[in-house]
Amino acid sequence: MLNDQAFVRYNRQIRLPEIGETGQAALLNARVLLVGAGGLGSPAALYLAAAGVGNLVIADGDAVDSSNLQRQIIYRDVDQAKNKAQAAAAHLLELNPEIKVRVVASHLSDQRLSLEVSMADIVLDCSDNFATRYAVNAACLAHQKVLVSGAAIRWQGQLMSFDFRPSPAKSAQGPCYQCLFPAGQFDEPQNCSTSGIAGPVVGVIGTMQALETIKIITGAGQPAFGKLKQFDGLTMEWQSFMVPANPACPECSKENP
Ligand SMILES: [Zn+2]
Repeated sequence: MLNDQAFVRYNRQIRLPEIGETGQAALLNARVLLVGAGGLGSPAALYLAAAGVGNLVIADGDAVDSSNLQRQIIYRDVDQAKNKAQAAAAHLLELNPEIKVRVVASHLSDQRLSLEVSMADIVLDCSDNFATRYAVNAACLAHQKVLVSGAAIRWQGQLMSFDFRPSPAKSAQGPCYQCLFPAGQFDEPQNCSTSGIAGPVVGVIGTMQALETIKIITGAGQPAFGKLKQFDGLTMEWQSFMVPANPACPECSKENP
């Protein structure tokens, strides 16, 4: 099933009984969309490329700025002023030339967002603003995809995964991102440029997004669907909250009237 080269390259994870050769083949066939190639997208994309996720799409319309380099570890000093998605793709292919990386060098919205989500198996929201988060959530709901969402500010990070795939085994509809953060109740918040961010905190969350993605693709363990995981870098504490679906959520209740 795997060629010798792949068997050696991915040997340390193939040895995990939860992954094995079958899981590795699933990773090589998987299609993952990363919305945003900043502090979260950097570690997420690096780990997914390293693990041999075969088809990555990196979307980001921004250029690398010197103030990004403190935490957006996929970039090098010489990448300044380059488009992030293009620079990230180049580094991912240096890391693993066996995979395919496609670049969307613009902000994903509307029809292009819908198209890219429809072609992906799993979508990672690595963006930094509510408008994009709501749009990505809506597109994942519409196309019944898995969404792995991360966020970080100052010393705090959050992670939550949403399973919008149709499944007769599901007992109840899970929440969507907008059940958790209803639109209109949250002003465009502090962002990293105004509030600050400890670099390793986005590293932790982006790495967890990659871990969740690898688990979901291979079927290993239990992804934290419907659970908000909150990390405090000052105390090193994780908290976990069950998030129920909001029956009045304007986004997901219309999908399941
Ligand atoms: Zn909802």
